[in-house]
Amino acid sequence: TGDELVRAVDRLMRHADGRRRMAVRANADTPEDAARARRFGAQGIGLCRTEHMFLGERRQLVEDLILAGPGAARQKALDALEPLQKADFAGIFEAMDGTPVTIRLIDPPLHEFLPDLTSLSVKVALAGDDATPRDRELLAAVRRLHEQNPMLGLRGVRLGLAVPGLFAMQVRAIAAAVVERRAAGGDPRAEIMIPLVGAVQELEHVRDEARRILAETGVEAMIGTMIEVPRAALTAGQIAEAAEFFSFGTNDLTQMTWGFSRDDVEAAFFARYLDLGIFGVSPFETLDRAGVGRLMDIAVHEGRATRGDLKLGICGEHGGDPESVRFCHRIGLDYVSCSPFRVPVARLEAGRAVVTAGDSDTR
Ligand code: PEP
Ligand code: MG
Repeated sequence: TGDELVRAVDRLMRHADGRRRMAVRANADTPEDAARARRFGAQGIGLCRTEHMFLGERRQLVEDLILAGPGAARQKALDALEPLQKADFAGIFEAMDGTPVTIRLIDPPLHEFLPDLTSLSVKVALAGDDATPRDRELLAAVRRLHEQNPMLGLRGVRLGLAVPGLFAMQVRAIAAAVVERRAAGGDPRAEIMIPLVGAVQELEHVRDEARRILAETGVEAMIGTMIEVPRAALTAGQIAEAAEFFSFGTNDLTQMTWGFSRDDVEAAFFARYLDLGIFGVSPFETLDRAGVGRLMDIAVHEGRATRGDLKLGICGEHGGDPESVRFCHRIGLDYVSCSPFRVPVARLEAGRAVVTAGDSDTR
């Protein structure tokens, strides 16, 4: 009967949870998603993509920031964003009270945030002499910032270093949200994650500033990095000197290891590659062990050689793919993080990995 089935599934989940070594977290950017993830059994947030908090109505504020340039105007734009961010983070801490929440500092592909060049050009051209000064300025800024390869451009830590004050605003908002939740009797556990790092020096700049802000506010938070650029994996021993945790961003790591655009190549030739057996499944779906997996393995070993207690996770899409979850167990990750709906499957597979691999086979 249905009841028996529900009981059997519950038993199975409990069994897997009792056996697994890896924790399972979720990728979530809103309190609603976080609450859903928790209902599915997520033990924390492995990736909160803060750039998603800047879409919709706040685009206007992001445009202000882009137009402001250095100086007082930029600070004003950042000051307008800080309380909004604080409220975003407080909501997520509340939903995930008592569990780790990894907040990734903003990592926008810039083209997703700038007004579209073509439509803005048309708008300004059609308006002629009546075009507003703001639209003219925006058009100039969009032209200036236009990139042929935005996914290889001004993203992640590069944006944070190029726009002083941006990451600091987010770290201040995180610290303020922690303070607020604590005052309300909560148990917020923030972790701060830097995206798209390829060199330890990038990380050091951001880490030093974040540490200063945390010290001023009396808030403790681990500071770590995504490993999603091949160079970061290859220099993981150095990077671990400045990072308390690594989280593998296998979406970008797959893109950069194969040189496949994660946004558009599949339609053009993946079907042919599948026919020819060059791979059996898209490497964006299931981890390519020989290439991407090898880089992860190198990073795990070199990172842990530098810092024995380095915490290791994955937050790319592969974190919810059964085969990839088993691979993550084998190379010794501490947790996987995936979209809320994939959490139950990840829990099962993390349990199965222990049984099928034998826990002795984890390194
Ligand atoms: C990744 O690159 O795998 C990742 C998790 O970050 P994003 O998908 O946001 O680039
Ligand atoms: Mg990424």
